[in-house]
Amino acid sequence: MNHRILHALERHTIRPTPMRMLVLEHFLQQRSAQSLAELEAAMPRADRITIYRTLKVFVEKGVLHQVEDGAGASRYALCQDACEEGKHRDFHPHFHCTVCGRTVCLDAVHLTAPSLPAGYRLSEVEMTVRGVCPDCAR
Ligand SMILES: [Zn+2]
Ligand SMILES: [Zn+2]
Ligand SMILES: [Zn+2]
Repeated sequence: MNHRILHALERHTIRPTPMRMLVLEHFLQQRSAQSLAELEAAMPRADRITIYRTLKVFVEKGVLHQVEDGAGASRYALCQDACEEGKHRDFHPHFHCTVCGRTVCLDAVHLTAPSLPAGYRLSEVEMTVRGVCPDCAR
């Protein structure tokens, strides 16, 4: 029983089911954002719908955020501690490597929200930077 996983679920008021624990454990082991297809491949015994529902709950509860990788796929990545239910604070760009295809969070880079015209309300700022990651540039 992994205490880090249980604690993370508890903090976000998510009932710990074996599936949820499995999915969260997978994310804690990965450095790059994961797509649904990658999760399916990593968990051959789980079905797609269950994995998808788990991802949806995690996004709603502020455990994962959705990442557009700029190559047409939706991926998911772990949130920072500041995220909570219905309120994400992942104001960082994502980097998509065109060589290895991995997408990572650039947590250390802060995205400044653009100032919007009157009447517009901001809920999310998304930026994907494409290029070559340090591993592939070597
Ligand atoms: Zn978040
Ligand atoms: Zn790369
Ligand atoms: Zn991110």
